Amino acid sequence: MSTDTTLETPSETVSPILKSVNPATGEVIAEWPVHDADAVTAAVGRARVASAAWRELGFDGRKKALLRWVSYLVNHADELSELIRKENGKPLEDAYLELILAVEHTDWAAKHAKKHLSAKKVSPGMLLANFEAVIEERPVGVVGVIGPWNYPIYTPNGSIAYALAAGNAVVFKPSEFTTSIGNYYADAFAKANPELPSGIFSTVNGLGATGAALVASGVDKIAFTGSTATGKRIMAAAAERMTPLVLECGGKDAAIVADDADVNAAADGIAWSSFANSGQTCVGTERIYVVDELADQFVAAFKDKLKTVAPGSGDTATYGPMTMPSQVEVVRSHIADAIAKGGKAVVGGPESVRAPYIEPVVLIDVPEDSLAVTEETFGPTVTIKRVKNNDEAIALANASKYALASTVYSKSKGMEIARQLRVGMTSVNSVLGFAGVAALPFGGVGESGIGRIHGEQGLREFTRPHSIARQKFAIPGMELLSFSRKASTVKLIKQVIKLKHGRHT
Ligand code: NAD
Repeated sequence: MSTDTTLETPSETVSPILKSVNPATGEVIAEWPVHDADAVTAAVGRARVASAAWRELGFDGRKKALLRWVSYLVNHADELSELIRKENGKPLEDAYLELILAVEHTDWAAKHAKKHLSAKKVSPGMLLANFEAVIEERPVGVVGVIGPWNYPIYTPNGSIAYALAAGNAVVFKPSEFTTSIGNYYADAFAKANPELPSGIFSTVNGLGATGAALVASGVDKIAFTGSTATGKRIMAAAAERMTPLVLECGGKDAAIVADDADVNAAADGIAWSSFANSGQTCVGTERIYVVDELADQFVAAFKDKLKTVAPGSGDTATYGPMTMPSQVEVVRSHIADAIAKGGKAVVGGPESVRAPYIEPVVLIDVPEDSLAVTEETFGPTVTIKRVKNNDEAIALANASKYALASTVYSKSKGMEIARQLRVGMTSVNSVLGFAGVAALPFGGVGESGIGRIHGEQGLREFTRPHSIARQKFAIPGMELLSFSRKASTVKLIKQVIKLKHGRHT
């Protein structure tokens, strides 16, 4: 999450070659030629040609192709997980979990596209009773997907798999920090489907400039996942051609430990939500609000859960290095600001920041106007605040410009509290549950984004409804939409309308 990623590069110098680096060791693991604007336009042109064949396959043909891709990925899971570990830094098991979660989503999209996107007849209503009315969901055409590095498969897959299942071709610009993973993923689709034309799912590689070229290339929709700052820039650029977009941006997710919470379960789940993947999870907990009467017990249990949590690159590490070097400074500055404003570190502290690793940091008594509470930290730190009651927890959780997801721990009021949260997603008595349910739409409110991926809404996000009203037969003498309309027809309609709508009291 950077403020100006167009200038950022994982290699030392900006060049036409992008160096892919292992964040734990600094080792260069691959070099990728950067696609300039012409190359991006050419890729989009190839995708447009390929999209016709993909569309013509229909739901059943596309389902088969997507499921073959799923099988290829599952059968090469060890190889791909190792690549994710190498390029992104996360532990091998986490890499595998990310992959199978993506696979489950692709399976769902492939199997449900027909049900949710098939043409639907609707009632034509009384005035046009001689019509047949149909909504047909058409693929938008070519979707440009721009992805982040934190979940380099699972996150863009929420757009890619659903856009493909809906009948679109996809041009994917992976994050410059996870280019090899993105290309492995797209190659896997081609390898699983050698009989299909190339260009149905392809990549363009590079920094922010390549992403910007994709936005300007004439694609029919942009699906972006990344920081709010970049999302705003992309939205402004997309306005030029009125290119529609779905934006999955940053978060500052709150967890509420309500007055009847199971404290031990809450500490266990929230510790994982806050620190897994080095805290580099858009829907991970960054703020905890715990009711006063449970606060001491919760802080003790939370500290206990973190005793064995430590970063590293070995097999026993619970999380890996910071994937993007510049994020280390963001984390450092949020910890420093919190402490300068009166906050206290009860686990770790400023000394925990040892690039490329950051040990867990837990901050309490942090004023609500400090950076660690107001801005996305995207690192292994979390704030805990005592609150008077559940209502105060809800009010503070909602007092953020971000509104992506949330967590509630409560034995009896979980749903009641969840319904009062201004967010796109909530997990009750567990963490991140919504992300694993393919049928649930995923997305944010406010500065966390626009639109939805996953579920039925995620499929519809990549289609445009085409409404068709077909006159089945004429009613002689009763024409309404004609200059030959008779006054007697309007008189009759007036009576019918009065009968239908004029009697409500
Ligand atoms: P980022 O905004 O720095 O980059 C994301 C992508 O945008 C990269 O591929 C980058 O090259 C590209 N890009 C940069 N400038 C561009 C421009 N001007 N035009 C077009 N493309 C451009 O984000 P990041 O650091 O890769 O990812 C971390 C962020 O992603 C965090 O804020 C996190 O919360 C967010 N995220 C959100 C979700 C979600 O579903 N809401 C999921 C994962 C990550």
